[in-house]
Amino acid sequence: MYNVIIIGSGCAGLTAAIYAARANLKPLVIDGRAQGGQLMLTTEVENYPGFPEGILGPDLIENMRKQAARFGAEYKAGDVTAVDLSKRPFKVAIGNETFEGKTLIVAAGADARWIGLESEEKLQGKGVSSCATCDGFFHRGKELVVVGGGDTAMEEATFLTKFATKVTVVHRRDEFRASKIMLDRAHKNERIEFLTPYVVTEVLDPAKGAVEAVKVRHVSNGHEKTLPVSGLFVAIGHVPNTGVFKGQLEMDKNGYLITQPGTPRTNVEGVFAAGDVQDHVYRQAVTAAGSGCMAAIEAERFLEAHHE
Ligand code: NAP
Repeated sequence: MYNVIIIGSGCAGLTAAIYAARANLKPLVIDGRAQGGQLMLTTEVENYPGFPEGILGPDLIENMRKQAARFGAEYKAGDVTAVDLSKRPFKVAIGNETFEGKTLIVAAGADARWIGLESEEKLQGKGVSSCATCDGFFHRGKELVVVGGGDTAMEEATFLTKFATKVTVVHRRDEFRASKIMLDRAHKNERIEFLTPYVVTEVLDPAKGAVEAVKVRHVSNGHEKTLPVSGLFVAIGHVPNTGVFKGQLEMDKNGYLITQPGTPRTNVEGVFAAGDVQDHVYRQAVTAAGSGCMAAIEAERFLEAHHE
């Protein structure tokens, strides 16, 4: 029986682990399918406070893992396949193995949705990104492509014009899902061009380990173009990892867990949520870490209040 089970080993889960472990709660961290979370897909992280020279995403995660382990956090590899939150202790299963926890912190994260091209995957973190806030800075004075037709794509394209001299928004339809205000703002921006209805078919050049161009194709007439750019920002949505909690934890229409405003509390007492699994707005390493800290403090207070 664990005091705290933390589902997820990204920034949010590991920060929760550091705090819970230092409170002597000996938390169990279940790594999940993608150990380390989204930071494992980035290269340089330049906006995490405390690293004036920047730090590699995987190094930041490794440091956090060691920091939590130093105070007694345990790790378990594997992906959660089922949970029972109907009564305490909560049950968390990885296949046939079941773990019991007095409290639970869900920090299972969200996955960026990708186009699904082999070249896109090979160049992730090397010019292909799903986060303009994280990686826009590397493209000062360059040209970029943003894929997507929703609010995120408009927001990212607009943000990227702070650095890039030209941003081409490639979208698969002529109509946009983005709200009028965000679309208008992008249309008015002289550095943004729209290319519709086009899809991205290839990112060049995986052999060189950097983005040099993006190939696109007109959806109906098949016309092809090659856009020489230094980066591809994929903004076609995120998918929170909340499948196993369906029917047990409250979530919004997109599957993000709902927490009580300003807290990590879910609708089930003793279950807390932190990081991107409950945040589709900020999605930063530092905000994920902050909410992980909040969740661990709440778990500690919950145990104290229940004399556990
Ligand atoms: P979204 O609204 O679901 O839009 C995703 C876009 O990506 C759509 O235009 C979609 O095209 C396109 N897409 C999906 N799969 C694709 C694929 N395989 N290949 C090419 N294109 C693909 O997602 P989002 O923009 O991330 O927004 C998510 C939510 O957050 C929304 O509710 C949004 O309003 C909100 N949000 C709000 C703000 C803000 O208000 N400041 C900022 C960002 C996000 P189709 O249109 O053809 O389906």
